[in-house]
Amino acid sequence: MNKKTQEEFKKLLNTQLEALLKEAEQTAGELQSSQEKEAVPDETDLATIERDRNFLLRIRDRERKLIQKIQEALKRLEKNNFGICEGCGGPISMERLRARPVTTYCIECKTESEAKEKSLH
Ligand SMILES: [Zn+2]
Repeated sequence: MNKKTQEEFKKLLNTQLEALLKEAEQTAGELQSSQEKEAVPDETDLATIERDRNFLLRIRDRERKLIQKIQEALKRLEKNNFGICEGCGGPISMERLRARPVTTYCIECKTESEAKEKSLH
């Protein structure tokens, strides 16, 4: 991967990271306000609050994981092993990286591991 492509991915990942951090902040704010709402249960539907809270917690969990993945991808860029498959050590296709820059497996390894997972269940 040449320097120019690396820079391109760095920019892409940083943009995604920034957007996610903003989103995560918003989710945290909403969680906070849903906690405050709980202080007045007679005025509101507790089941709805609980459902919203679970929804927000799931989003927060997903956001955190994705933030971590992006940070790891940025580290791989620094260490010059970005775009290398963790499974077979081969290069991950540009097309796949552009669609999902945080990926650590090439399409062949990914398909294989998914097939294995399915056969376990
Ligand atoms: Zn692979």
